[in-house]
Amino acid sequence: MKYRHFDKLGIDVSVFGLGCMRLPMIEKDGKKIVDRKISDRIIREAIEGGVNYFDTAYVYSEQDNEAALAHALRGGLREKVYIATKLPIFKCESSEDFERMFCEQLERLETDHIDFYLVHSLSGEQWDKAVSLGICEFLDKLKREGRIRYACFSFHDDYAAFERIIKAYDWDMCQIQFNYMDVENQAGVKGLRLAGELGIPVVIMEGLRGGRLATVPSEVREVFDSYNEHRTDVEWAFKFIADFQEVMTILSGVTDTEQLHDNIRIFSELTANSMTNEEHDIIKRAADAYMKRIKVGCTGCKYCMPCPNGVSIPDIFTTWNNAFRYGTTLGGNQRYARMKNQGNGADKCIQCGACEGACPQHINIIEMLRVADSELS
Ligand code: SF4
Ligand code: SF4
Repeated sequence: MKYRHFDKLGIDVSVFGLGCMRLPMIEKDGKKIVDRKISDRIIREAIEGGVNYFDTAYVYSEQDNEAALAHALRGGLREKVYIATKLPIFKCESSEDFERMFCEQLERLETDHIDFYLVHSLSGEQWDKAVSLGICEFLDKLKREGRIRYACFSFHDDYAAFERIIKAYDWDMCQIQFNYMDVENQAGVKGLRLAGELGIPVVIMEGLRGGRLATVPSEVREVFDSYNEHRTDVEWAFKFIADFQEVMTILSGVTDTEQLHDNIRIFSELTANSMTNEEHDIIKRAADAYMKRIKVGCTGCKYCMPCPNGVSIPDIFTTWNNAFRYGTTLGGNQRYARMKNQGNGADKCIQCGACEGACPQHINIIEMLRVADSELS
């Protein structure tokens, strides 16, 4: 296993962080819970393989994920690892909720402190709410009392929101979505570099884009096959991310020990700043091959919004693009059906034209919405 060291933290953390979110679940007494037998095995074998970073959250696995992690760490393993868990800010209505949920988390995790404590899934809007509820003071207090070691946040929004949040508090770590298809999406490379300049280590989530980059379409595979050495789709995806020295840890969720051992093998060979120009070129061509499958060049900037008639223009285009880019047509259809049920579908467009002049990509929005509706319905 490879480890990375950041002065800000002063500890060595494994490049492979086990994302516990995908631990298999079973039904017990009419309730869905994490399968303790399998999760114990995965977590303990991960520790034997050198993994020392374990990621969970209050809300994962129908709120049973933290307890499952604690179960696997019984018998002296807790002291050997770093636990990262998250405060569900989206469930908090007052500062009292922070303390109540944090105490619940300590209890579930069977520990007296949490190593990495993240404010979960911040957007610009959620950050404003968190600040107004006193999140900065709360994190300061937890650190002072030794109940958390590092104050952190996970993020899903655009670069502007990322820059605002990362500069607004003395963070010890941040977690962002990043992979070779998202270099200009959300925080993106720009966000990664900014974190590096600020000396804040970065944990990566969605390195395989929800698993889609683990089984790429044939056009993308052909690009990978043009390299003189065989590498799996997963190896290419993780190699790209690990090449950034700003990255501390890459989260990968496994559902069985076979995947776990494959990950341990891959992460044992990954180092920063080691990719050649040829390898960078392969990644770029693979991303281009993926992009060719998209239907409309919408960047999600939202300049066209709000539509006076409730049409979720960028969401419809994103759903349409993703459905065809990653071959998940059924999921796209279901997502679009939900939008329509909520009155945000393209069928609500009355062709007023208010959106089109605002689009910096000069997209023929009315026509594209019509085609999206027919292909997703
Ligand atoms: S043209 Fe359609 S999508 Fe655009 S603003 Fe008007 S109603 Fe909304
Ligand atoms: S303005 Fe254009 S590019 Fe931006 S979200 Fe709307 S359709 Fe997409």
